[in-house]
Amino acid sequence: EVRVRFAPSPTGPLHIGGVRTALYNYLLARKLGGKMLLRIEDTDQNRFVPGAENYILEALAWCGIVIDEGVGPGGPHAPYRQSERKPMYKQYADQLIASGHAYYAFDTPEELDTMRARLQAAKVPNPQYNSITRAQMRNSLTLPEDEVKQLLDGGAPYVIRLKVPRKEEVRFQDLIRGWVVVHSSAIDDKVLMKSDGMPTYHLANIVDDHLMEISHVIRGEEWLPSAPLHVLLYRYLGWESTMPQFAHLPLLLKPDGTGKLSKRDGDKLGFPVFPLEWHGLDGETGEPTVSRGYREDGYLPEAFINFLAFLGWNPGSQQEIFSMDELIAAFSIERVSKSPARFDQNKVKWYNEHYLRAKSNAELAPYLLAALTEHGIACSQEKAEQIVGVMKERVSFPKDFWQEAKYFFQAPDSYDEQVISKKWNPQVAAALVAYADALPSAAEPTAEGLKGLFTQTMEAQGLKTGQVLQALRVAVTGAGAGPDLFETLVILGTEEVATRLRTAVT
Ligand code: GLU
Repeated sequence: EVRVRFAPSPTGPLHIGGVRTALYNYLLARKLGGKMLLRIEDTDQNRFVPGAENYILEALAWCGIVIDEGVGPGGPHAPYRQSERKPMYKQYADQLIASGHAYYAFDTPEELDTMRARLQAAKVPNPQYNSITRAQMRNSLTLPEDEVKQLLDGGAPYVIRLKVPRKEEVRFQDLIRGWVVVHSSAIDDKVLMKSDGMPTYHLANIVDDHLMEISHVIRGEEWLPSAPLHVLLYRYLGWESTMPQFAHLPLLLKPDGTGKLSKRDGDKLGFPVFPLEWHGLDGETGEPTVSRGYREDGYLPEAFINFLAFLGWNPGSQQEIFSMDELIAAFSIERVSKSPARFDQNKVKWYNEHYLRAKSNAELAPYLLAALTEHGIACSQEKAEQIVGVMKERVSFPKDFWQEAKYFFQAPDSYDEQVISKKWNPQVAAALVAYADALPSAAEPTAEGLKGLFTQTMEAQGLKTGQVLQALRVAVTGAGAGPDLFETLVILGTEEVATRLRTAVT
């Protein structure tokens, strides 16, 4: 059975990298008829941010990513919060000690500092706690067994570390990268249990993936360096035959490709799904939490998801528009690229425009009505639908409706200067007045009717419509560009149009 998991740490708002990981897991689970789990990895109490867990649930729900099992819906492997599973991990650390694959380490923070300083002084390129440095340590693995026992009995603080073999190649097959081979000398003797009795990410992650019968681990590339260590853990715990398959997703780069997309780009790119509602600092970066998000910026979840799916995957065809169901049908890990994906702001906007325009006027009207209510302007559902109908080809975000459609409710208080300077003259002004005079005769106006009337009136004035059209638009809307002009006039009503024309010429 295919069982995948999204395993975020509740350290702050969910960013697009995290959502993409959740999405790809979800797509694979649905595609292969498997289950999608949500596990909260909260063993690092220092980085814990209150509210982050609810935020994650809300963000996934907004995206349309459905959790089958885990925090939220519950399930047979509950609890799904690692802090609540704390008593389960120790036995596995003990098992590793008993089999000689882990050891107690009693180093004090000062001793670790000294060691690090010594390694740095010796210009060791990538200082690590491994078999070599271990041997140089006072409290090294060479500690005799009775001394270990004595220290433990005396209540000396300790951590449990993995004993990484000295000269071994660790290899595994990544579904995206193919064979990954790492020499064990490049792997630290990572801490598995901390002195407070909490497991580290590495131990808890492996134990839980095993107990929860996870079949595929799909996660960001930043976890690739941890994977060889995880392979060793599966081996030493005797779980190698049921080890999940790994798939490490490509990096996300800044729009200009100059580097990794970081949380620091957050504010600029409207980066998290939506802001985390709490007052303080981001648990991970220590910076104030960002107050913008895709949801707040007016992105539609369908657009956001469609865009995210393409950040590292492609269907191998020209099709760019995919609903969630279509993504599920088309998705495969084989088509996930190993080269980095570049975040493209224009593309996500393009997707938003597409999904916005695909909505019916009735679905879009509430966005405009909400803004109108905010500004104390009354408007019928029918009129709002008409307006969004003519405006939707011109807006990228729901909030633009108000900005772009203001003139339907407020006569212009200024006029596009460029158009005025080029297209305005006494003859044009007189023609506009003539049109205003002609207007009231059009009962139940249609766009076509008003256009015909305009052509007629201009002919009578000895002018071509092209000479006056833009002036007409500016006089009525204030702007030099907009949706279909005669549709606009119909929505405004002939009386209002006539008034605005007379105001504009005076
Ligand atoms: N807790 C890790 C994170 O925050 C999970 C990594 C993994 O999927 O193994 O991303």
